[in-house]
Amino acid sequence: MVAAAELAHILNGMSVDVEEWFQVGAFENTIDRGQWDGLGSRVEANCDAILDLFAQTQIRATFFTLGWVAGRHGPMMRRIADAGHEIASHGWDHARVFSMDAKAFAEDLARTRKVLEDATGQRVTGYRAPSFSIDARTPWAHAVLAEQGYAYSSSVAPIVHDHYGWREAPRFAFLPVAGADLLEIPVTTAEIRGRRMAAGGGGFFRMLPYGLSRWAIARVNARDHQPAVFYFHPWEIDPDQPRQNQAPLRSRVRHYTNLSGMKAKLTRVIDDFAWGRMDMLAERLGAGAQRWAP
Ligand SMILES: [Zn+2]
Repeated sequence: MVAAAELAHILNGMSVDVEEWFQVGAFENTIDRGQWDGLGSRVEANCDAILDLFAQTQIRATFFTLGWVAGRHGPMMRRIADAGHEIASHGWDHARVFSMDAKAFAEDLARTRKVLEDATGQRVTGYRAPSFSIDARTPWAHAVLAEQGYAYSSSVAPIVHDHYGWREAPRFAFLPVAGADLLEIPVTTAEIRGRRMAAGGGGFFRMLPYGLSRWAIARVNARDHQPAVFYFHPWEIDPDQPRQNQAPLRSRVRHYTNLSGMKAKLTRVIDDFAWGRMDMLAERLGAGAQRWAP
């Protein structure tokens, strides 16, 4: 067990991937994009609950937001920015980066950034790929982010997973583009019995006992002397969202397990560690980062 005082000095990155309950990879084959506008929006109520949680616990975080969502919820975007949180990009409509080419990716980024910046007046300098979809298939992606002046990306899961992952990538912040300051800050991983798992939130945090997440974050802070990168979604704190009974069982298990326990768990992880915005992390990590490319 690592002493709380020892951990308190490392600032970890707290992030929310802002998307609707129907915009997730788990339901992409059961809910057609054309239906999206007809489905009941829940993102605003859920984000307001998250803003309350962050206000109570006095932390600031980064909201990686879809352009599709920001364009429909301008007042929500302003509430998030006015509370002192960072607004960053999660792409337009959750299309994975490896489903695009460099030109389409550049357009997706530009379109999203304009909507985010118009809604809040805050400059966008951070990006997170939908479903951590920057990997070995997208050798051009970081270069496009650098060209567009992004300071950091948090888009790589350095693991093997059935839906995503770039197993060769470093576990901690690196410089992916020669001659550019762009920093990639991968999602936090845990190494358990020689196997790396994405341990910075998501299903690992929601479905498994809280002690495992606490162990993983403490280990990254104390042993690796690195900040952890944590993420969750507005739909994860919403047990009343409409159920998609036609989705595959595996997707339903992943999506619906422990939604009702999520808020209490989040409160615990926020209390146990120190948290801040991803742009603050990028600033701190930039100076010591090494160049890495496959
Ligand atoms: Zn997402």
